[in-house]
Amino acid sequence: MAENYPFPIYFILLIITITRLISTVGKTEQWKSSSSLPIELSSNKISQNLINNPKAIEKASSDYGNLVHDLPAAVFNPTTVNDIVSLIKLSFNSSVPFHIAARGQGHSTRGQAMARDGVVIDMKEFRENNKKNKNVDNIKVFEDTKVGYYVDVGGEELWIDFLYKTLEYGLAPVSYTDYLYLTIGGTLSNAGISGQTFRYGPQISSVHQLDVVTGKGEFVTCSKENNSELFHGVLGGLGQFGIITRARIALEPAPKRVKWVRLLYSDFGAFTKDQERLISMKGINKNSGLDYLEGMLLMHQGPINNWRSSFFPLSDHHRILSLVTQHRVLYCLEIAKYYDHHSENNVNKEIQVLLQGLSYIPGFYYEKNVSFVEFLNRVRSGELKLQSQGLWDVPHPWLNMFIPKSRILDFNSGVFMKIIQKRNITTGPVLVYPMNRNKWDNKMSATIPDDEDDIFYAVGFLHSSGFDNWKAFDAQNREILQYCNDAEIKYKLYLPHYSTQEEWTNHFGPKKWKTFLQRKYEFDPRMILAPGQRIFNNN
Ligand code: FAD
Repeated sequence: MAENYPFPIYFILLIITITRLISTVGKTEQWKSSSSLPIELSSNKISQNLINNPKAIEKASSDYGNLVHDLPAAVFNPTTVNDIVSLIKLSFNSSVPFHIAARGQGHSTRGQAMARDGVVIDMKEFRENNKKNKNVDNIKVFEDTKVGYYVDVGGEELWIDFLYKTLEYGLAPVSYTDYLYLTIGGTLSNAGISGQTFRYGPQISSVHQLDVVTGKGEFVTCSKENNSELFHGVLGGLGQFGIITRARIALEPAPKRVKWVRLLYSDFGAFTKDQERLISMKGINKNSGLDYLEGMLLMHQGPINNWRSSFFPLSDHHRILSLVTQHRVLYCLEIAKYYDHHSENNVNKEIQVLLQGLSYIPGFYYEKNVSFVEFLNRVRSGELKLQSQGLWDVPHPWLNMFIPKSRILDFNSGVFMKIIQKRNITTGPVLVYPMNRNKWDNKMSATIPDDEDDIFYAVGFLHSSGFDNWKAFDAQNREILQYCNDAEIKYKLYLPHYSTQEEWTNHFGPKKWKTFLQRKYEFDPRMILAPGQRIFNNN
């Protein structure tokens, strides 16, 4: 056949054939395991951002929980927001759409950032790509006469980098998570809670505006005023309605230092009464009061100082331990008050006023004075220590719950005093602290107890386990949930994980579920996004 063509045409055809062959070979190699991805993807220019080498696939099919491993067909490393738009559009317009999940840091514990047979967008690579591009400034601080100071930050950025950048301007966000090596998009998809939540609300409460790429591949800017359904849906929306590519977040002048105090209790009733009192108290003047309040359990199974925080002086370990042995469980109230050189002289007096009349065990008062960053970044040193011992990447069968205030005493007697004691396996941190309902916006997707109480509690069982015994922790988690169901304690899971739609409907409650569904049909009608949450893709 070749001899029928004049030389130049034959030559051109040969080149085209070879080019096609090379590109097909390239694609075959790129998507070995990707029969689930449509062929149109291979001819799209974004295919150059797709990889499926074993290392990338392995990373995208694991998370902090180390319990779920779903293999994606490919990993997507975007260089621009437009790449994300193109990827989602392509899936949306395909005859058979493929699943897409953004993976922030993969610090979920139940595969929530995975996409079996689909595509995982590696937001860490996106962040790294941005860093290489000198023209991209992804954390920008502004001042506005109406809203005050704010930052525009990429959804792929880490809270720690965001904090350092804003501190250069003497500013900082008001609401945090205990650990800052999490992405903006990842925590805003849940809520983002910590000891500041009672006062400033969860992180989702300080967001003014978002840029989101929806499940239709549309790039939308939204706020309470514009495209408000998308805005409210995405905040706490478990990644179901769009990928957050930018968030506008409120800032306040940053304090310099922190007075950090821990007090021990043997009586849970006194402990929660004091916690509740403290979160509703104003300090010496109306802008004061505490800046942070949490609480945790100390039990005989675990060390006095756990990996998340080393606080109690070695010389006191013995007397604290004998108290733990006597009572089986101690409750540690943890508070913090920020200050700077203007308020330095007053801070001790403020703390004194706030702590007056509290019922902690006399003589079991501990304090530290640290820099603002040291306080906020307190979990990092524990992480580095565990990493150096190879104990960070172990299974984490966590259970995080919100419990109505009216049932927290029952929760203590049924769970902390019975189930936990009986099973005798809990060694890691168990957190328990209250927050104010009025700091949460019910229009957002994040879900809290329906109870009429003005206060509810966050309880976190932050277990680390071996690879051979995580099931024992999961069995304990199930027993805790069963106890709550039997006792009619109307809890909500935080960082929820369910496997049936019935459970999800119960989780949101009928009204919120209806809104959640409507938003899903509007913004991700082909059910493309965040399949690892197993809300709409539960097989
Ligand atoms: P990922 O786990 O990667 O993703 C979580 C979900 O969000 C997935 O469904 C994913 O698809 C989706 N997603 C990710 N990025 C985006 C985006 N840009 N747009 C839309 N969807 C997106 N949480 C608290 O609230 N308070 C704490 O104090 C706290 N402490 C923690 C401490 C440790 C050590 C760890 C491991 C976790 C902690 N968490 C805490 C939980 C944490 O907030 C969640 O696991 C969060 O999802 C992790 O963020 P990530 O960036 O790793 O998100």
